[in-house]
Amino acid sequence: MRFEFGPNKGWCFDLICYVVRQKDAETVSLDHFLYRNGVLHAEDVPVAEIAAAVGTPFYVYSTATLQRHFKLFDDALEGLDHLVCFAMKSLSNQAVLKVLADAGAGMDVVSVGEYMRAKAAGVPGEKIVFSGVGKTAEEMRIALEGGIRQFNVESEPEMLVLSRVASELGVVTPITVRVNPDVDAKTHAKIATGKSENKFGIPISRAREVYAMAAELPGLKVIGIDVHIGSQLTELEPFELAYQKVAELTEVLRADGHEITRLDLGGGLGIPYARSNEAPPLPMDYGALIKRTVGHLGCEVEIEPGRLISGNAGLMVSKVIYVKEGEDRKFLIIDGAMNDLIRPAMYEAHHDIVPVVEPEVGAEPATYDIVGPVCESGDTFAKGRTMAAVESDDLIAFRSAGAYGAVMASEYNSRPLIPEVLVHGDQFAVIRPRPTFDEMIARDTLPEWL
Ligand SMILES: *Cc1c(COP(=O)(O)O)cnc(C)c1O
Repeated sequence: MRFEFGPNKGWCFDLICYVVRQKDAETVSLDHFLYRNGVLHAEDVPVAEIAAAVGTPFYVYSTATLQRHFKLFDDALEGLDHLVCFAMKSLSNQAVLKVLADAGAGMDVVSVGEYMRAKAAGVPGEKIVFSGVGKTAEEMRIALEGGIRQFNVESEPEMLVLSRVASELGVVTPITVRVNPDVDAKTHAKIATGKSENKFGIPISRAREVYAMAAELPGLKVIGIDVHIGSQLTELEPFELAYQKVAELTEVLRADGHEITRLDLGGGLGIPYARSNEAPPLPMDYGALIKRTVGHLGCEVEIEPGRLISGNAGLMVSKVIYVKEGEDRKFLIIDGAMNDLIRPAMYEAHHDIVPVVEPEVGAEPATYDIVGPVCESGDTFAKGRTMAAVESDDLIAFRSAGAYGAVMASEYNSRPLIPEVLVHGDQFAVIRPRPTFDEMIARDTLPEWL
């Protein structure tokens, strides 16, 4: 039996597949990270096989999941002139960008490094949007020379610099102004961006003034409005409030004589990190909200999802080093650490953690504090987590680790960056190798006097 997913089935594919699997063990052909014959697979590849080939820890991404999540957004905006620009800060490996670019995605970049990565992956300048609160003149120059769809300008000083750089190059660049709608995104404080206390955008109350200034500046062509209120939003209401404000502002700016033809509505739709009890909104409902709030304006619409495309498309796989008995608890000491996946330490984030070998039905679970080897108490992935009992050398997988995982990794404690692997059907390939210790050390250079 083949199981077809309609767009209204949402992105909860592994949950759905799990349910379906209970009914029919043969329906897993579509899925992505599922137990099959008692072992966790990434698409058609046993995760343990990848571990044997590349060593642990590592990241593994599913091509089919990336494609499917992109398509959910693309389909959700059907009927509107639109472009889905992947927020590549969430996951910026060349192979991942190529998968999404081939599916038709544009890219949202926040640094010239990301711009170069997008270009290197074959994304044309006219599909790259440049966001970010601190673009330098040099970054602007490189993007203007290489081609850019638009700059999302975040302040008046930035606008003056962009005007100067564009004028020097003899070009006129399309811009939007990022407005800060002063909306509570109801998400973690470190990833909320749409309140007046946040550093992002210009206050929406000053928009008319700033647009008037932009219209006078050489080298710039105002084409639209940009807004992005935060990440991991688990309700639609903040989007609704923000987009209503954008719609009102569109009318006001048009009355002032500006041609507003493009709305960039940002990213931020959340994903279920704890699958058992979270159900954030679906892309289709988000798309309907966009149509309802701004669809009547006749604008081209851009969105910039990152996490929802890449988050559930990746696992971080790690190996248990020791099970250590503490005074009042058991520690699971694993070979992955906060330098590999920083979200729990940085945002108190939850990741579901599952054994790579499926537990027997009725097996006695165990409760652990799951920690890495780094010399910080912050190197804790979960406290008091009840899961299948595991032992030294067992493999475990962190779910929903595709977004803000590999891209935020460091080599703290001189732990080499962990490899990234891409799966496609029954094939897998290393898309970023683990550096050797020699390579890691050779990046340092000694001054001549030493
Ligand atoms: C981070 C960011 C995004 C993506 O956010 P997600 O929560 O990953 O969807 C989109 N646009 C801008 C400007 C961002 O800074």
